[in-house]
Amino acid sequence: MSQDIIFNLIKKEKERQLKGIELIASENFVSEEVMQAAGSVLTNKYAEGYPGKRYYGGCEVIDEIEQLAIDRAKELFGAEYVNVQPHSGAQANAAVFLACLKPGDTVMGLNLAHGGHLTHGSSVNFSGINYRAVFYQVNKEDGRIDYEGMLETAKREKPKLIICGASAYSRDFDYSKFREAADEVGAILMADISHPSGLIAKGILKDPMPFCDIVTTTTHKTLRGTRGGIIMLGKDFENPFGQKTPKGEIKLMSQVLDSAVFPGTQGGPLEHIIAAKAITFGEALSEGYFNYILQVLKNSQALSKALIEKDFEIISGGTDNHLMLIDLHNKNISGKEAEKVLGQADITCNKNMIPYDDRSPFITSGVRFGTAAITTRGLKEEDMGKIAEFINEVIKDPHNDIKINQIKSQVNSMMNSRPLFQW
Ligand code: PLP
Repeated sequence: MSQDIIFNLIKKEKERQLKGIELIASENFVSEEVMQAAGSVLTNKYAEGYPGKRYYGGCEVIDEIEQLAIDRAKELFGAEYVNVQPHSGAQANAAVFLACLKPGDTVMGLNLAHGGHLTHGSSVNFSGINYRAVFYQVNKEDGRIDYEGMLETAKREKPKLIICGASAYSRDFDYSKFREAADEVGAILMADISHPSGLIAKGILKDPMPFCDIVTTTTHKTLRGTRGGIIMLGKDFENPFGQKTPKGEIKLMSQVLDSAVFPGTQGGPLEHIIAAKAITFGEALSEGYFNYILQVLKNSQALSKALIEKDFEIISGGTDNHLMLIDLHNKNISGKEAEKVLGQADITCNKNMIPYDDRSPFITSGVRFGTAAITTRGLKEEDMGKIAEFINEVIKDPHNDIKINQIKSQVNSMMNSRPLFQW
């Protein structure tokens, strides 16, 4: 079994992860404990349903594990209800849509090119295919959310669901402004905090829970856990659209959400992943994690400053979180080309649309950098200047293979001195 070619490929991927500088803002490195739980015998178990209400026998241990995951997530985010079963962030959002909307209803999210996510209404995603999507955006001048425009769009389009949250926005959100807009039009307000959830959990960024009806997050970005999603409620509230049971009783939103996850959009929960989520939340509750996430922010701000000193244009002029979006126009290189040449130097990042981009999503004029993963590798502010220098040297001279190879060796020796995995 261990002779399977797949294990050789896993070894190769592990080596790739270890030798490079990982700047993909949505990635991180999990602990050995998270990895063990995710690869445990729990993968063998079917457990449709919820703790205490399963459709399969033999779920006594599973129930304890899932309940622990729920309780720890509640404590971490100050939530009153958590569903830990969504297999991913997209699955969590799909379940919220199913719970709150009917096909054809209007949703409003941040424009994808302005930092939004596919599941916030993109025409190639379920959220834009089955629902009518409208968008708010960021200001051209300062790259920050146009809150007035958002309110106007809400009043004009009357969405039933408003989503705040982003994949490539480096500033904090003013959730009170979204609450105002939602109240104005009677919409449900959802925050998707997939990216900054670790910073929010530790009080470094504003807390959406008091303002938003529903909060979703992935567990594998700044939270540094296994891949997955969760759905949370700050307080249980009656579905404003009055979903009724056949007996005419109004269902609580928590019940509607539970049904939307299972059986609405998923079958059996991944209990090995739920166990790994429980470990992730336990780790995030620790003081060590607070120090980690604070360092993520310090590194992000140091990297952004060092890049600005090298004449890189950061959208909005800096960052409040773990990521930054770079406009490459003044560097005469596309996002696609930049991603490729940085990759040749073992610096991994992703091309990204920038607001008001004049290039297609396949080419793009930007790249996105994040510091969650390199901080786990132990890098500090003083290393960020060096990384900015590597990036600058590659971008400045993208066809100089000899120079790129020299930088690659420097990248590899920097990262080889930072061992990480015991597993
Ligand atoms: N929501 C946001 C804001 C995201 O950035 C992402 C992932 O990049 C998702 C949802 C989807 O998460 P997943 O890839 O786990 O489906």
